[in-house]
Amino acid sequence: MPSAAVQESAGGQPDDPASGPQPGLGGGLPAGLVGRPGRRQAPPRHLADLDPAGRRTAAQQLGQQRFRADQLSRHYFGRLTDDPADMTDLPAGERTGLASALLPRLLTAERELTCDEGTTRKTLWRAFDGAYIESVLMRYPGRVTMCVSSQAGCGMACPFCATGQAGLTRNLSAAEIVAQVVAGARALAGGEVPGGPGRISNVVFMGMGEPLANYSHVLGAVRRLTDPVPDGLGISQRGITVSTVGLVPAIGRLAGEGLSVRLAVSLHAPDDSLRDELVPVNRRWKVAEVLAAAWAYAAATGRRVSIEYALIRDVNDQPWRADALARLLAGQLAHVNLIPLNPTPGSRWTASRPADMSEFEARLADRGIPVTVRDTRGTQIDGACGQLAATDRTAPPAGPVALADPVVRAVPVVPSGQPAPAVRPAPAVRPAPAVRPAPAGPSGPRATGRVG
Ligand code: SAH
Repeated sequence: MPSAAVQESAGGQPDDPASGPQPGLGGGLPAGLVGRPGRRQAPPRHLADLDPAGRRTAAQQLGQQRFRADQLSRHYFGRLTDDPADMTDLPAGERTGLASALLPRLLTAERELTCDEGTTRKTLWRAFDGAYIESVLMRYPGRVTMCVSSQAGCGMACPFCATGQAGLTRNLSAAEIVAQVVAGARALAGGEVPGGPGRISNVVFMGMGEPLANYSHVLGAVRRLTDPVPDGLGISQRGITVSTVGLVPAIGRLAGEGLSVRLAVSLHAPDDSLRDELVPVNRRWKVAEVLAAAWAYAAATGRRVSIEYALIRDVNDQPWRADALARLLAGQLAHVNLIPLNPTPGSRWTASRPADMSEFEARLADRGIPVTVRDTRGTQIDGACGQLAATDRTAPPAGPVALADPVVRAVPVVPSGQPAPAVRPAPAVRPAPAVRPAPAGPSGPRATGRVG
């Protein structure tokens, strides 16, 4: 029986991140999973929540000319500024009022951590209501990827994921998602990231949260990110990746949007018995249904689907599971991303042995499945997958940082005059549920059972 929190919305406002309808969750979720947060105060409205027509209407409602909205859009998306002092094309007496009505500051950078000689930067953001979220900028030769959060926390409860341990606080607004990218774009344009001034080329929805459980705001954000300047940031749709646990109705809906964003499906197991444990939403939508939706998405968009598979030692890394995965993907427009598990604090699970990883990869490759092992950038700053655990804090995170790598620096971003201590949020960890040993596959030995 699904919890009350996941029943279809009776009355939320479409633009209310706290209670908006969740069309992707029709049919409800298994008990314990949270599709929709309880009612909370919505973030302030921002220009990036609105499409261009909506912005003009909003300007008019403020007693302004409609074209003022376009001027503000040019400042925000084109010049990456929300500072009224920069807006010299607006009447001096109107600047502050317009900016505070349509460009309210949504996120405050609480802390920044960098590694990889400054080319990986994780930012911890505090939202208007004290919720904490994180984003990560990763600069590579020839591209810059922003990993963004779509929710404060996550309701999907995947036991190996740090965010999943703390539960869902609330959906982010479209503008709160966009603000993470604008901040990265601003830092890059300003030459703050080693490598010279640059631009964001890719955005991946792989930070905190399940993007398809916050469908309308994620879609709004995708439009703002990809609409050409000055309506949006002008990032190529092909550079956007939406990663999901597999909310089947929402995948179908996304396929019908006429976008060419990439879909990533967090599969992590080819068999329902194990996936039911690793990705609990699998109890609602099984592997076969999730993959059918993925292939329909590939057919509708022409884009290869990325299959995410975190390799967990002796849990899902057996050769027979590689073979089973290869059989599921044979002949499909798919690519497998193997991710060595980033162990979360308190969990006994760890990354696969290198030899098992190589074997898993080779078995897929031998069967003609395109496969790569994902770069694990940012591990030292807990910026890697599943490590974004600063959820649901009402007070600034505190506690000693345990950063082994001397390259990692904690950078204070709130001008305080005092160097900020190197701290990180203490993750709220609940013990991972015991996972049953997976049954033996048709062509392989039993899992060892050392899984919980
Ligand atoms: N909810 C979405 C997006 C956020 S997580 C999803 O599940 O796809 C982004 C990716 O990181 C997912 O593939 C997720 O399964 C993976 N991930 C989470 N925790 C991880 C960990 N501890 N180690 C490796 N990958 C992890």
